[in-house]
Parts: sequence; structure tokens; C-alpha cells
Amino acid sequence: KEDAEYLVSLIGSTPGFPKEGIIFRDFMPVLADARGLDILLRGFAAALPIAPEDFDTVAGLESRGFLFGPALANKFGKGFVAIRKAGKLPPPVFAESYDLEYGSASVEIEQNAIQPGERVLIVDDLIATGGTARAGADLIEKAGGVVAGFSFLMELNGLDGCAKLSEAPISTLTAMP
Ligand code: 5GP
Repeated sequence: KEDAEYLVSLIGSTPGFPKEGIIFRDFMPVLADARGLDILLRGFAAALPIAPEDFDTVAGLESRGFLFGPALANKFGKGFVAIRKAGKLPPPVFAESYDLEYGSASVEIEQNAIQPGERVLIVDDLIATGGTARAGADLIEKAGGVVAGFSFLMELNGLDGCAKLSEAPISTLTAMP
């Protein structure tokens, strides 16, 4: 309880960024704090949505999923694969497009990153609408993998992002408006 309060106290909040009406939740101060980083990594591992034997690899969503994913994977003796924004990975890649508020975006994974039937835990810092995680999960399936679970540090209340991810168990460490 004390740890959870300390963790939340380190999360930065910036109203109006990246645009009006949005409160940006910032995890960088958590990483910068030695105790905060330790609580965060231990909390992430303790809140795993599935048993360690029920997934084979961890996939992180760009870019903050890259900060926690490898550490979490290593803790359970797994590897890590990166789901990146379009145009960053060398070909051949699988790609998945998704709608944004204005326009669309695309995420990619290297074609040899996932073995057929590999069970994948998807991680990111934060779930808002769930659009990014949904695209990541569709991409894992396109690559021949199976989505085994989702781990987020934070869920934004009121957006119901987790409802888009009904195929596998989800864990979140904290929730905020
Ligand atoms: P969604 O696709 O669920 O609407 O948005 C989640 C994605 O946007 C994640 O990759 C997350 O890192 C990023 N994101 C959206 N809002 C915030 C925020 O307030 N703070 C941080 N750190 N990331 C955000």
C-alpha cells in the first residue's frame, strides 16, 4: 500500500499536453527515481495477468513498452520483441493499420520475430482508448502468434479501452482519470 502510494505520487500529470482537454500522465519521473523504478518493476512482475508458464515471449508497444518489456521478460526467462511504428524496422515486416482520432497509423513487427503458435504477453505503459493495444494484438496474430495477455502500468478511466481486448487476461497497476 505504501509502495503503491509512493509510485502514484511520482507519476507526472500535464494538463493540455499533447493537446487541449488531455491530461498527459508521465512515467519518466518514476523511472528516474531508484525506489520508484524498483517498485514499478516488481509491481509489474507481481501483477502478471497469466502464469509465467502460459506465455513464451513479451512484446512491447513503442515506445514506452520498450522501457519495461525487456526487464519483465528477463525476470521470467523470456525474450522480448518490439512492435514499432511504421517505417522503423527493416523488411520484411508484418503491418497492421488502425484508426486515430484524425487519420490512421500503422504498427509493424519483423516477420521472423514470432514463431508459429508462440504465446505473447503484450506490454505498454498506458491504455487509453485501447486502439494501440488492439492493433498490436492483431499484428501478433497476423505474425502467427497467440495473444496470451496484456500488462499495462495504468488504465485511463472512462475510456473502456480494456473492452477492446477481450481475447486474453489484462492487468493494470493503477488507474487514473
Ligand atoms: P490508446 O491507443 O489506448 O488510446 O493510447 C495508448 C497509447 O498512447 C500508448 O502507447 C501510450 O503510451 C500512449 N498514451 C496515450 N495517452 C498517454 C498519456 O497520458 N501518457 C502516456 N505516457 N502515454 C500515453
